[in-house]
Amino acid sequence: MDEPTRNKDAKDRATMEAIGCIYCRGNHDSAIRGADGMCPECRNAIEATLERAAACPYGHESNCEDCRTHCQRGEAQQEIKRIMRYAAPRMVVRHPLMTATYLKRKLRSKAR
Ligand SMILES: [Zn+2]
Repeated sequence: MDEPTRNKDAKDRATMEAIGCIYCRGNHDSAIRGADGMCPECRNAIEATLERAAACPYGHESNCEDCRTHCQRGEAQQEIKRIMRYAAPRMVVRHPLMTATYLKRKLRSKAR
């Protein structure tokens, strides 16, 4: 029933990038934003999160906040939490399908 992992990785990336763009648009100067819709700072935060998610031994992907190993540590964790908190309610409006997929996976990983 599960979609291929490769597809899931691409979706994770797309979701995180959408989150990064929303946060950057609302919080950072458009002058420093690149063609990808994110400034270097936001791009770094998103890339670091995707990297850590890929390395998670429990395969928690971008739902790392639920992970008991807490892959996301220290400052990077604080930053991505801030980004998520800002972007989450806006994601529902802007990308309802993406958000539904994310939440569904989150619930599944909680049930595990
Ligand atoms: Zn930014």
